[in-house]
Amino acid sequence: MPACSDNFLQYETNRIIQIQSTNYGTIKWILHVVVFSYVSFALVTDKLYQKKESVISSVHTKVKGLAEVKEEILGNGEKKVVSTVFDPADYAFPLQGNSFFVMTNFLKTKGQQRGVCPEYPTHKTLCHSDKNCKQGWMDPQSKGIQTGKCVVYEGNQKTCEVYAWCPTEATAKVPRPALLNSAENFTVFIKNNIDFPGHNYTMRNILPDFNKTCTFHKTKNPQCPIFRLGDIFQETGDNFSEVAIQGGIMGIEIYWDCNLDSWSYHCRPQYRFRRLDDKITNESLYPGYNFRHAKYYMENGVEKRTLVKVFGIRFDILVFGTGGKFHIISLIVSIGSTLSYFGLATVFIDFLINTYSSACCRSCVYRYCECCEGCLISEYYDRKKCEVIVEPKRALKYVSFVDEAHIRMVDEQLHGRSLQDVKGKKVPRPLMDFREVSRLPLSLPDAHPNPEQPEQMQLLREVKTPRPSSPAWCRCGNCLPSQLPKDRQCTEELCCRKEPGPCITTSGLFKELVLSRRALQFSLLYQEPLLTLDADATDSLLRHCAYKCYATWRFGSPELVDFAILPSCCRWRIRKEFPKSEGQYSGFKSPLLME
Ligand code: GDP
Ligand code: ZN
Ligand code: ZN
Repeated sequence: MPACSDNFLQYETNRIIQIQSTNYGTIKWILHVVVFSYVSFALVTDKLYQKKESVISSVHTKVKGLAEVKEEILGNGEKKVVSTVFDPADYAFPLQGNSFFVMTNFLKTKGQQRGVCPEYPTHKTLCHSDKNCKQGWMDPQSKGIQTGKCVVYEGNQKTCEVYAWCPTEATAKVPRPALLNSAENFTVFIKNNIDFPGHNYTMRNILPDFNKTCTFHKTKNPQCPIFRLGDIFQETGDNFSEVAIQGGIMGIEIYWDCNLDSWSYHCRPQYRFRRLDDKITNESLYPGYNFRHAKYYMENGVEKRTLVKVFGIRFDILVFGTGGKFHIISLIVSIGSTLSYFGLATVFIDFLINTYSSACCRSCVYRYCECCEGCLISEYYDRKKCEVIVEPKRALKYVSFVDEAHIRMVDEQLHGRSLQDVKGKKVPRPLMDFREVSRLPLSLPDAHPNPEQPEQMQLLREVKTPRPSSPAWCRCGNCLPSQLPKDRQCTEELCCRKEPGPCITTSGLFKELVLSRRALQFSLLYQEPLLTLDADATDSLLRHCAYKCYATWRFGSPELVDFAILPSCCRWRIRKEFPKSEGQYSGFKSPLLME
């Protein structure tokens, strides 16, 4: 709504320029068809007519499988290798959230009890004498609180004595291959219930035709919810035996993309796997996944424990996806949001018109050759399409020379220079509307001067007065110096020509369009039918009207007319025809300075 409008109840609409061109019309329809096809295609394939909702879910897992582990045991001073069996209660640890853990490797420290003993030797705990150890000292990495003594750990290695769970854990190398390497044959059964509360729909991943003995296979059995651990690693391109040594984290993604429309119902999970920890096995970067775990027991009234450093694989189950169902509002919204794509044709064709008419036409040397025809047509459309409005500054003036096709725009202060010498910017001459001119009774010959009418007698006298020699900036020989105060004179120092040649005031059309008393009277009465043209006011009115007629003739558009400067020759010719009886002529006033 326009800011200055005080009428609230109104409607504004855009004006449209219709270009009746087969080429642009064809481009428009091709683009519309392409856009329409794409939009319809996207609407159907992306199901933009559906209301989508994220899945909420619960997961329950069960790991199954047995492993035989060969452990070294110290019995009666000698090492024995004992084979033990591990079942799910031994290797599967309950975890919080949608995760489960399978132990694949471990380090055991048996029979620990509280007491004093030497630390495991590291560069921090090695010592030579008691001086190296400090009573009561501990740090987050040490196994206990130092007693201040330096004692023998093994052979001639001495370490600080600590009060801790003794014997301290030997940070030996992890067993290779992993002790529970056969865990790759374990299976996990994943139960997943999902819910789309907005659509009031629940579903589970166990289908009615579920076969308990199946195992998941990407292509042969993609719906079976029982997964062999080795297969999961194979899918991600990892080696289970490698990961089993240090442990790791594996993601099991369950993706639900549910179409709940009755006519194209589909709701089945898709399983994907992703290794989530980083694969680099550089010791300094703390690879793998491990934690410590202790089993406590009493022996002869003393509390003891078995400390186990557990390495294994944590499986994180990530359930995500959406459920969609037809919804009329969603359909309307998505149609609405795609409507803007139809504007593509406008943007593209406007781009063609603009680039064709500006860049290409500038390079056209012979403007009327055949190759430029396209350019000229585009330029024509461009002119019809755009209305250029310059910020109306106080200094803004338009100048038109008879020997130039364009108009010049001057929007700078003159600072004493003649307007004739200012370069200005070229502005295309607006397309003239000759209908206005043809309305004037041009064919009527001017009435002969009637000696009874004083103003006409004056005219004859004026014409006879000799003309002083023209100033330096004049090219036509008919201009006169300005009578304005010195600081404003330069605005009137303008000739009708840029280069020397005949004056515009000598043209027949000038007489008919600008000086014809009858035409000017007609024009004044055309605007104000009941105007009384009395003798005093007439000359002033006719003079001002003649200025306007000249400006309209030479500048065309009303925006330019208000800021158009008349050449001195024309100005004085008009003043001769319609003179002012007393006082000075006030000259051009910028419309922006008028009250
Ligand atoms: P006046 O009749 O004594 O005021 O003096 P003029 O004959 O100079 O006419 C002044 C009126 O004509 C003012 O409204 C001016 O804006 C207008 N006028 C004078 N010169 C020009 C000109 O070069 N261009 C335009 N567009 N208007 C002019
Ligand atoms: Zn001149
Ligand atoms: Zn002239």
